[in-house]
Amino acid sequence: MIKTDAPWCAVLVLGLTSLAAAAPGPLPPDDDKDLARAILKELVEIKTTHDVGTTVAARAIEQHLLKAGFAPEDVVFAAPSDHPIKGNVVVRFRGRGRGPAVLFLGHLDVVEAKAEDWSVEPFKLTQKDGWFYGRGTIDMKDGDAALLEALIRLRRGRFEPDRDVIAAFTADEEAGGDANGPAFLLKEHRPLIEAGLVVNLDGGGGTYKNGKRQFFELGTSEKTYVTYTLEATGPGGHGSLPGPDNPIYTLADGLGRLEHHHFPVMMTDTTRASFASLADLAPAEVSADMRAVARNPPDPAAAERLSQEVRFNAELRTTCVATLISGGHAENALPQRAKATIQCRMMPGDSAASVQNALTNTLNDPKITIALDAPPIVSPESPLTPQIRKKVEAVAHSMWPGVPVVPTMATGFSDDRQTRNAGMPSYDLSGVWSDSAENRAHGRDERVGVREFDESVEYTYRLLEEMSKTK
Ligand SMILES: [Zn+2]
Repeated sequence: MIKTDAPWCAVLVLGLTSLAAAAPGPLPPDDDKDLARAILKELVEIKTTHDVGTTVAARAIEQHLLKAGFAPEDVVFAAPSDHPIKGNVVVRFRGRGRGPAVLFLGHLDVVEAKAEDWSVEPFKLTQKDGWFYGRGTIDMKDGDAALLEALIRLRRGRFEPDRDVIAAFTADEEAGGDANGPAFLLKEHRPLIEAGLVVNLDGGGGTYKNGKRQFFELGTSEKTYVTYTLEATGPGGHGSLPGPDNPIYTLADGLGRLEHHHFPVMMTDTTRASFASLADLAPAEVSADMRAVARNPPDPAAAERLSQEVRFNAELRTTCVATLISGGHAENALPQRAKATIQCRMMPGDSAASVQNALTNTLNDPKITIALDAPPIVSPESPLTPQIRKKVEAVAHSMWPGVPVVPTMATGFSDDRQTRNAGMPSYDLSGVWSDSAENRAHGRDERVGVREFDESVEYTYRLLEEMSKTK
């Protein structure tokens, strides 16, 4: 899940101008509401942590789809032969063939949860004080349940989409392991999920502050994750005879320079639109700076001021930071080697080559080698087209009239990087609202509001219908 990484919550910390109190949105019909809740319970209670895998959950979804009347050839279970527990299920809702399909994505795996850390059973759905508690209730079995229920409801209503609607319930997003569902499906079964447009329910959503609706996200992009190993070596020797060539000092000096390096400000269509939209909500002085960075070119002094806030800094530029360090081999010996790991998060459009070049120049010491750990999965920005904005606003405003729809770039990453890298524009469009202070995904006592879940079920149904239209 990437929602918790959305830096826009910073604007809420800074204080927002007040909007209307959260009027409740529409709910699904009772039968659909009950079915969605039952599916949520079923999915939360099927453990899908990394070691257990997703096959049991994927098979359960397969059964629901078949029971709802989807043709067996349109419901495909697929797991990598070397990872049979990492099952995925893909369903195709056949349309009139007016254009390339739309693909909905939901991952089935969850992060581990230890019962002793929780105040309720993590792998049981508990309803308490207006909340559903349980691992996956916000990341993202809520989205999976809403998606499955919407498919069943559309099928029951004999809905005929303009184009095929595909839904893929997938494995291994959290662990990002070698059985990642979308990566496996793209590699081995691409025709099953080939689409002109992807909607991922793993990010996006609405943000409340003090019970008031602030904004609803349209996620178009995320930063690209890339890791480097720095290494310095030296002759070593006896600890009693220190000389000038000590790799720990060499590396430490380089890291000191890196700490003070700032990558250039780099705006994208999305971050410009984010700052421009959020400027309407922010206090006056911040607002002026936001408008100034949203202009082309961005105002450097405004960017500098905004960069003081960690989360805005991450929206304005590529970042690199030292995350691990090791060196030496004995207490009483001069080190022969020192290593550091540098974690970079690149802006869409930035490249590993340019980042490495900047590292080389900043470290400015030929005694420090720089190695790329693994080639990054490039994640280009998906275009912020008037059509996508219009569709998202139509659905969001049908649910929550007047709520600002804000395009966003996540600083974390999701399965979108797989589909975006495969040339399919992908958008994060969860329908769940949560408070800016709420941050329990991956943590203890994960929960979703009961009302918010029910509304997201209705929203997801409307979203499927809207996105299936080619106009
Ligand atoms: Zn997630």
